[in-house]
Amino acid sequence: MSKISTHPFEDDTLDDKLSEECAVFGVFGSSEAHLLTALGLHALQHRGQEATGMVTFDGNQFHAKRGLGHVSENFNASSMQMDELAGHAAIGHNRYSTTGQSEIRNIQPFLTELAFGEFAIAHNGNLTNAERVRRSLVDTGSLFQSTTDTEAIIHLVARSRRSKPEERIKEALLQIEGAYALVALIDDMLIGVRDPLGVRPLILGKINHSYLLTSETCALDIIGASYIRDIDPGEMVLIDQNGVTSLRISEIVKSRFCIFEYIYFSRPDSVIEKKSVYNARKMIGAELARESDISADLVIPVPDSGVPAALGYAQQSGIKFEFGIIRNHYVGRTFIQPSQDARSSSVMMKHNANSEIISGKDIILVDDSIVRGTTSRKIVKMMREAGAKSVHMRIASPPTINPCFYGVDTPNKANLIAAQHSLEEIRDEIEADSLAFISIDGLYRAMGEHSRDKDTPQYCDACFTGDYPIAPSRNFISGSKNNDR
Ligand code: AMP
Repeated sequence: MSKISTHPFEDDTLDDKLSEECAVFGVFGSSEAHLLTALGLHALQHRGQEATGMVTFDGNQFHAKRGLGHVSENFNASSMQMDELAGHAAIGHNRYSTTGQSEIRNIQPFLTELAFGEFAIAHNGNLTNAERVRRSLVDTGSLFQSTTDTEAIIHLVARSRRSKPEERIKEALLQIEGAYALVALIDDMLIGVRDPLGVRPLILGKINHSYLLTSETCALDIIGASYIRDIDPGEMVLIDQNGVTSLRISEIVKSRFCIFEYIYFSRPDSVIEKKSVYNARKMIGAELARESDISADLVIPVPDSGVPAALGYAQQSGIKFEFGIIRNHYVGRTFIQPSQDARSSSVMMKHNANSEIISGKDIILVDDSIVRGTTSRKIVKMMREAGAKSVHMRIASPPTINPCFYGVDTPNKANLIAAQHSLEEIRDEIEADSLAFISIDGLYRAMGEHSRDKDTPQYCDACFTGDYPIAPSRNFISGSKNNDR
């Protein structure tokens, strides 16, 4: 993998991208595989709310169900289809994409019949050379049924001349670049793979005698499963009736786990790479207070994503913590909306000021990130309308100035407020009395590192630094202009 140390594409018109951050889950060897998967996907709902799907195997037949919307709308006790999904092995997926292509044909897991039998696959991440691979496959006769990059893997597996499915998958993945956590199901095996740099998470768990794969540990807790270990970067695990076998698909290199998983994406009750997401966020908040403390009456989190960081900030600064904003939980994540209008109104639908607490106070608002600035602008305004004397915004991540090509939905550079404006301009734009972001070194300190290793940073932090650990292919970017964000 080549490393690019400057932003590879200064031309913003090329910046639009297909983007998906998703959840994967899989289980092998349980008579309740379908039920465990439904629960696991429910715990992973925060990673994707657009669509969900499950493929199961009952020893004779594969079964599949996919649908738009939340897990509970598609897989619930009253759903007749749950019985039809009964099996001893299952994989599932929650999809979060940004494109207008919320079509059934794009909902994973995909299930196809290959030379060795049926093959189901689900993917979290983004393949950076997918467009190029896809074009060459189409040029040589492949017919694609979806518009997702994941389908390229299926075609590569189908074309491999290797005999064993796992060898075919390995051969396919050697032609793929990008970030991925994959789960795949064939008739006698559950397979999990993590990309060579381990950008996206994948965890191995166990319940009774059955092994599980999940994007996050919170999906183990919901079913009472125990954590075994994180799948290593570049590792493939084969799970069958004999247990777990580990293979390597790439050499061992220093991993580059996505730091934004800790900042925002993962659930705070999850533990990734042995680090509690909640504790990481608190430490980031404490470091933020050390870097940019200011006197105020209250520390107020922007719920829910700003809560642990605000708590860390309050504990470090000694300023009282209060819930000055109440969140309506029946609205999805702000970002996961089709248009700017819908996003703006859903900020109001989602948050309301707790005026009694805020009125007449100097407040510090803590949020995890500013992306377009939509949330901050609305929230600051809301605080003022609730009578706040002054509003100081503190952000528990460095300014987001670059898009992510590895599966987190950040918009193109033109829509990233910090890529277009100075700190003072952003402060002015969101109408805060003061604004500070944690520094990149402060972020690394909060993560327990001495400092950010400039040659090979410990994490993927490209959204903050432009240091992309996997080259985003120009074909991938310019070929994916069907994204409207
Ligand atoms: P914005 O309103 O565009 O500035 O977005 C910032 C808000 O969106 C923050 O409150 C974050 O909690 C949340 N956020 C940041 N990154 C993402 C993402 N990739 N997907 C969904 N929500 C996000």
